[in-house]
Formats: sequence, C-alpha cells, structure tokens
Amino acid sequence: MTETRLRFPPSPTGYLHIGGARTALFNWLYARKTGGKLILRIEDTDTERSTQGSIQGILDGLEWLGIDWDEGPYFQTEFSADHLAAANRLLAEGHAYKCFCTKEELEAKKEAAMAAKQHMGYDGTCRNLTPEQVAEKENAGLSYVIRFKVPERSGMLGYDDKVLGRIEHSYSEVDDFVIVRSNGKPLYLLCNVVDDIRDRITHILRGQDHMTNTTRQVLLYEALGAPLPVFAHMPLTLDLKKAKISKRSHGEIVAVHFYKEHGFIPWAFCNFLVLLGWSPGDDKEIFSREELIEAFTLERINKSNSIFNYRKGDEKFFTDPKAISINEQYLRTMDIGEIGDMVQNVLEKEGLWDASYAGERKEWYLITLDLIRDRFHTLNDFATLGRAFFSDDFQVETKPLQKNLLKFPELQQWLPLLADHYQALEHFTADETERVAKELAEEKGVKPGVIVNGMRTVVTGQLAGASMYDILMTLGREKVMRRLRDVDKFFQ
Ligand code: GLU
Repeated sequence: MTETRLRFPPSPTGYLHIGGARTALFNWLYARKTGGKLILRIEDTDTERSTQGSIQGILDGLEWLGIDWDEGPYFQTEFSADHLAAANRLLAEGHAYKCFCTKEELEAKKEAAMAAKQHMGYDGTCRNLTPEQVAEKENAGLSYVIRFKVPERSGMLGYDDKVLGRIEHSYSEVDDFVIVRSNGKPLYLLCNVVDDIRDRITHILRGQDHMTNTTRQVLLYEALGAPLPVFAHMPLTLDLKKAKISKRSHGEIVAVHFYKEHGFIPWAFCNFLVLLGWSPGDDKEIFSREELIEAFTLERINKSNSIFNYRKGDEKFFTDPKAISINEQYLRTMDIGEIGDMVQNVLEKEGLWDASYAGERKEWYLITLDLIRDRFHTLNDFATLGRAFFSDDFQVETKPLQKNLLKFPELQQWLPLLADHYQALEHFTADETERVAKELAEEKGVKPGVIVNGMRTVVTGQLAGASMYDILMTLGREKVMRRLRDVDKFFQ
C-alpha cells in the first residue's frame, strides 16, 4: 500500500480559527491513524493579504493544540515556477487558452445574460481563437488571462467523496475558469493542485465550502495527467442562527488563541473540535489521543452542518457550553501531575508561582490542585477562583461577603475566637478543626454552617468549594489563623 499523505494548507490571512483548527485536526488524525504523513503548506500567494503575524499565529495555534506535522512548513510562493510551468503546459497541450476579453466586456455580457435570464458564465468568446488571432492580439499589447478549457463532453464530471458519496455535475455547468490572472499570477485553484500533485497528496480533507473548487480541480488533475486524490468534504460549522462562523461576526470567540488564553486544556479542546463534524456512532464523548486516532474514520465524518453553540451576550457561558463541559471533565480526571504543569504556566503568568511548588512543596502543590479542581471550569480558575491558595492578596466575592459574613455581625468576634481555639489545639487536623468549629457554633447557639460559611468566606473568598477542613489543612494553621483574625477589615 502506498503511504497516505495529507496536508493542511492554510492561507495566512488571519488567525487560526475553529474551522481551520478542525481541518488541521482531522487531517492530522487521519495521517496518524494510517501511519502516513502530514504536510504543512502555507498558501501565501495572496501577498496582499498574507502576513507574517498570521503565519506565526497559525504555527503557535497548531503547537498549542499538539498537532505536529512531518514535512514543511512549505511556502506556496516558493513554488511559483511550478505553477507557471503547469499553466504553460496546459496552454501548450490545448487544455487552456489566452482570453483577451476585458473586464468591461465581461461585465456587459453578464448584465445582458442576467436581463435575459440566461446562464451568466463565461461565453467562450476567446476559446477558439486561431493562433494567428492570438498572436495579433498579443502583438497589439492586449492583456490576457489564461482560462482552463473545460472539455465538451456529454457525460458527468465528478468524484467519489468519502463523506458525501458520488458528487456529479454536467460539464456544461462548469465555465472555463481563470487559472492565471492578467498580471501573470496563477490562481489558487491551479497552485493548490500543482502543489498537491508535487507533494504526492493522497487524501484531501477540507470543508464543504471548497466543493465548487473540487469540481473544477478534478479537471486540472485530469489535464495534468495526475491521479485524483481521495476527497472528503467536512461539514461547515455554523452558529446558532445558522450563519457561518467568522471573525467578522463572532470576533475572538472563534480564534484558537482565545481558548489558549482562557485556560483550556489543549487536548480537551481538540476533543471538542473533533465532535464538531465527526461522531463515533455511540454516545462516547471523551477520547484520549490514542483512542481518537484509533476510532477516527473518514466515513464517520458528519454530512450535515455542525453547530457552534454560542449565544452572544449569554452571561452563563462565555463560549459553547460543550467546549466548557469537556474541559471540565478533563480537569477532573487528568493526571494531577499533568494538570500541575499546565497550572504552573497560569500561575507564572499571574505572578503566583513559587519555585518551591516544583521542589520541596511539590506534594503540597499537587494535593492542593487536586482538592480544588473539582469546581473549576478552566485552568485560569486556579489563579482566580483559587487565588487564596497561592496568595494572601485575594478578593472576597460579593455574594459570600454579603450572605455569609456581613449578615452575621457577630462573626467579627467569633472568627478571631475560633482562631484562638485553633492556636490552642495540640494537633491541627481536619477532625480537630471540625470539632472545635462545631463546638463554637453550639456555644453561640447557631448552626455550624454560620461559622463554616463565614470561615470559608474569609479564608478562600469563595461561596463554595471543597471540604472546609481539608482546605484548612492545605492552607496550614498560621495562614488560617491570620485570615480569621483579619476579619475586621470587612466590617469597617
Ligand atoms: N488555502 C486554502 C484555504 O485556506 C486551502 C484549501 C484547501 O485546498 O484545503 O482555504
């Protein structure tokens, strides 16, 4: 069997977005599954819109996602000679022709066709010019584009799509399309095929928005004498209003870097992405890297559009809730050492990292993360909701402040009293601290919750969380006493 060779060929005209990342992921999965190769090709021929920043953003995004490639990055602009040679060959072999029609002429014809409700495509004016006529126009200095000469055939033009089945069009539906602009620059349709042939690509997985290109590119393969690769067109990703997701209408929410910045676990995000266009055939939702490589098949790519479930202005969810819930599941179950490495980056960024967490306090660090991870949504939450574990300078949220502290003014005396009891304890253990807190509640004639919730508020700043007594153990006696005694500041 020949080696499978796939490619991810982004145009570097913006950031890496969800759609592009999903395309990269699918190609990567299939390359890894089949033991083949993934080629990264930056399609930078649109020099006006391509930027260095965008190239870097794509590379960074792929690296963050953990999508690696085996060849490249190649840059399409480095292969212009190949593109021109192919255009010349098509001309020489009668598969293409020079077209001298001006923009104005084409516009006028289009308008006339529109008025007469006729087919508006190119009418073939220059298709059958004699070599003498062509020479005459060239000598007169007229500029021209190069058009592909779609064969006049009665059968159907088509290909077998791995996802959608047989796709066919009649030849007459396809107009003679431009392959080289009047400035001499070959167009995407041609460059893309020439590069795929040179790179010996065997499988092309890309969005259904490319299907009109595929129909025409099938003709280019034939004319260039190359075998057709396998095509698999993936569903589009739409928003809840069925509009295509895009930077213009959705902003940063569709950018991969948004998820990196918001503390998503890279593989958890890949897991979310794969479900936007592929399904395992049962309700299994969480896949390790190895499981997904094993389970992934082209046949199970969805035919119908996928929905990116995001509502602008939704206060509860800042992105598709599925992306969040998958991330939460990874946060809860991933190896704590791996979580520890990822949280390190977050804490470093926030100035909360201490070198001892990787050294003599490593055990403490991992136990603490394990204790608090259950309620968190993203890695960033360790630095925000979990800030009190890494710094004395943390904020007390308004809700617990009102509900659990200020509502009970006696806590201003009781919490420092509790601190005294904790100081007097021979053994500062979870059981002992619980016993003392309950005794204090009983002595003051209140439910234990009043003391515990008040304590949680000043000790962690949060309304809820892990077992209070486990938290006390993590923080240690000194810190706990200090925070309990510091309660005065909230009552001023
Ligand atoms: N540069 C094209 C894009 O980013 C590549 C499409 C393809 O052939 O996969 O849309």
